Amino acid sequence: MRRLPGLIRQAFALVWEAASRELLLAGGLQVAAGLSLAAQLLVMRRVLDQAIVDDGVPDLAGLAPELLLFGVLLVVVAAAGVAQREQQRTLGEYVQKYTTGRVLGVSTKVDLIEYDRPTFHDRLQRARVNASVRPLQIANGVIGLIGGGASVLAVGAALLFIEPAILLLIVVGGIPSVFLNRLSSRVLHAFAVRQTPGDRRRGYLYQILTRKEEAQEVRAFDSSEALRQEHDRIFDERIVDLKTTVRRRTLYGILAGVMAAVVTVGSIVLLLAFVRMGRISISDAAVALAAVVLLAGRIRGLVASTGNLYEGALFLEDFTDFVAAEQHVSSRAATSGSISPKPLPAFKRIEFEGVGFTYPSRTEPSLQDLTLSIEHGEVIALVGENGSGKTTLIKLLAGLYRPTEGSIRWDGSDVAEFELADLREHVAVIFQDYARYFLTAHENIAISRISQVGDRSRVLMAAERAGAHQFLSSLPAGYDSLLGPSFEGGSDLSIGQWQRVALARAYFRDSPMLILDEPTASLDPRGEYEIFQQVRRLAEGHTVVLVSHRFSSVRAADRILVLEEGRITEEGDHDALLARGGRYAELFGMQAEGYRGAPN
Ligand code: ADP
Repeated sequence: MRRLPGLIRQAFALVWEAASRELLLAGGLQVAAGLSLAAQLLVMRRVLDQAIVDDGVPDLAGLAPELLLFGVLLVVVAAAGVAQREQQRTLGEYVQKYTTGRVLGVSTKVDLIEYDRPTFHDRLQRARVNASVRPLQIANGVIGLIGGGASVLAVGAALLFIEPAILLLIVVGGIPSVFLNRLSSRVLHAFAVRQTPGDRRRGYLYQILTRKEEAQEVRAFDSSEALRQEHDRIFDERIVDLKTTVRRRTLYGILAGVMAAVVTVGSIVLLLAFVRMGRISISDAAVALAAVVLLAGRIRGLVASTGNLYEGALFLEDFTDFVAAEQHVSSRAATSGSISPKPLPAFKRIEFEGVGFTYPSRTEPSLQDLTLSIEHGEVIALVGENGSGKTTLIKLLAGLYRPTEGSIRWDGSDVAEFELADLREHVAVIFQDYARYFLTAHENIAISRISQVGDRSRVLMAAERAGAHQFLSSLPAGYDSLLGPSFEGGSDLSIGQWQRVALARAYFRDSPMLILDEPTASLDPRGEYEIFQQVRRLAEGHTVVLVSHRFSSVRAADRILVLEEGRITEEGDHDALLARGGRYAELFGMQAEGYRGAPN
């Protein structure tokens, strides 16, 4: 109850920020309609009084001005009703554009680490869903509240003028309905919160069952039936829960209806009693009765709008919670005080000092006690078994995560003092699970440095280096061909070709540090050889960090770091590590063995 005024204020503020002009216009119309309604009652009262004065034989010609005015007032009310429905639509759209914009603002700005937190996803999901359906409800609520409020006040004032006791009855009788409506909204919100994790899982299963990426494997393993069953089971659970929710809401709705009926019948009885007592005239009683019926309808509308707003605003809280994360992110720099506003210069040396990293969903660290330094211009290779921490190390290096322990220094300055985005300015990174954009070939490459998106010659150069020029230039529309099969006219590429496009993207960015996480995993041996020759050539003036399982490419690195269970266990160049006879030598031996022993 106590939160209602705050929530309504928030809803109004939201609509105001999204579309102040439209809100003023819509509000003005509603107020005009409310006043017209009250004016109608007063005009009608005059007409009836006149008729009674005329002994039941009304003088039609004499009443013509009143009747004309009455007609005009009817039109104003009707027009406001139509306008309300139509204005809600545009207003809803404005609010939706505004809220979606805010959600996108957050989802694209928050640190990558947030995406590792399930609670972030739950909130994102609710904010995303709400940003699309709730705005209309909030717009409806705001206009309805203005319209309903204006008519209730105006008709109420007219009634006060005619018979105040009736007004009191209606106001007191209306309180339980407001309360019931509130309960009803709260039940729905609780349902939505309860169901969010299930909704997300269901949405995910739906995606697996409909996307191209998974389609071949789902068929090959014949797993669709099991996945569908799980999808249907979650849906059934939701429906069962929804039914209980709906039952409760129906009960509250019926109770509110009963209350409204009691108030209306009570008013009629009271009016009849007043007429018998001679307290009011028949014509006043008739007009008061009309006012009661009108008011009952308007109050119902008002309560429904408040309910709408309350519902919308409860969801709005999810939205504001989520948006607050944005403020958190962007203000962290300001509040910590130590973050420097100046841009970060390119580095000469990067040092890790006792760096550790633990994912939010884990208790065990994925990296521990890492101390190393990287000089500008070095080619460093990371070697280690799956899960040894290579990708995590790369993400720290690329400024996607901050260490949870220790510090990373660029030329002696702690990276914690800088915005990660500034640090990323100097890094180009391609992950194993690089993105495949269903955009044109040109855009797929130039997206890594969007400020130079128009530079076709640099796109060509990057593609050339990554060995992608030949197949891209022979696409139907060359570099302007749409890649990916999902859109009309798109050409799909092989995995190896996609990988070369990703590599071209990294080259196009042309950053001092190039980080490649298994950039050749999908390439044939010749392709891999070419790429590494290229990387070596490129390394002049650049720092290159690469992860690879293929020792043929690793051996050329200036320095090799061997990772085991999140720690660096060996470090040196190929020959030194072989001579040492440790883990590296063992892994290298296994691969050489494997190659020799492999059937062709
Ligand atoms: P590598 O690249 O060497 O295969 P990773 O750096 O990907 O290793 O993973 C190191 C460890 O961190 C593994 O135990 C892995 O399960 C865990 N890990 C990786 N990414 C995440 C994540 N987003 N959330 C939780 N744990 C993760």
